[in-house]
Amino acid sequence: MSRVYNFCSGPAALPEAVLKKAQAEMLDWHGAGVSVMEMSHRSEEFMSILASAKARLTRLLNINDDYEILFVQGGASTLFSQIPANLVNGFDSACFLNTGAWSSKAIKEAKRYTNVKVVGSSKEQNYTTVPDFSSLDLDESAAYLHLCPNETIGGLEFADLPETGLPIVADLSSTILSRKIDVSKYGLIYAGAQKNVGPAGVVICIIRKDLLARSHDSLPSIWNFANLAANDSMINTPPTFAIYLADLVFEWLEEQGGVEAIEAINALKAKTLYDFIDASAFYSNPIDPAFRSRMNVPFTLADESLEALFLQESEAAGLRTLAGHRSVGGMRASIYNAMPIEGIVALIEFMRDFEKRHA
Ligand code: PMP
Repeated sequence: MSRVYNFCSGPAALPEAVLKKAQAEMLDWHGAGVSVMEMSHRSEEFMSILASAKARLTRLLNINDDYEILFVQGGASTLFSQIPANLVNGFDSACFLNTGAWSSKAIKEAKRYTNVKVVGSSKEQNYTTVPDFSSLDLDESAAYLHLCPNETIGGLEFADLPETGLPIVADLSSTILSRKIDVSKYGLIYAGAQKNVGPAGVVICIIRKDLLARSHDSLPSIWNFANLAANDSMINTPPTFAIYLADLVFEWLEEQGGVEAIEAINALKAKTLYDFIDASAFYSNPIDPAFRSRMNVPFTLADESLEALFLQESEAAGLRTLAGHRSVGGMRASIYNAMPIEGIVALIEFMRDFEKRHA
């Protein structure tokens, strides 16, 4: 067996210790005589896994009793529709900050449900920066303010939030659990699992309980956040194996020392890579240094014609999936929690050697 360093933006690398534990428990989970995939979602065993995942996430993010954790299906893209469907009831509009491809997609879907007010956008800067929050055109009578604090494709991240009385709805798909956040500042947080949480198939949704009152009876039952909360995310069969893996990832994260400890490592990993890129005339990153993502590091080569060779050689060197998103090209190294610092060192060594041979 030879595992490589996997820089995929998602589904992304999982901690090896988690995969090994899942492997060891695959045929017989804790003496149940079946794998988690084969047990009833209503069984005591699975209910204990679900409860464990919720308890660990609550501890890791320090979530207080004002919030409900939901495990939702359909991917984060489903929540682009499900969130306005649940939250705009009784309101005329929703506010959106546009900082890249994923906020744009959320805007496009929300338009089917409500009047979308884009309160700030960095589209004209090609999404290389974040609009100044003091200039946002916020409408305090809107249903909520949506934003995407880590744009996975553009490689743009911001940690601060605008000052507003509106509930803040945040797509944390590619940054959740990578750095400390104050959950109490948000109305709703959602995150597809396949980057920092586990395999694809489940979306973490943390919603302030008072917002559940907005979910209208006319919604499809399985889309209704209040109904999901009342049924402990089990209106129908949940993605049991994905939730089990998420619990193992949460356990691993606790063993690493929690979010604060992993944040320090993530900051070091990102700084090491950006410092190398900045010191080179061969590689470059276009993002405003104040808003560079710690999770997704896009970079280009001075000579575009070398890109295919870079990808071919990096793959051969055991550095997998360094191609940028198909919409933007170039390269992108996604370096989520499960990427060890050794992976960054190996990437930089390769990049340095490639530059020497081709500059
Ligand atoms: N939001 C962000 C920030 C993402 O990175 C992604 C996926 N890369 C999505 C939403 C969509 O996720 P899904 O494929 O689970 O629908």
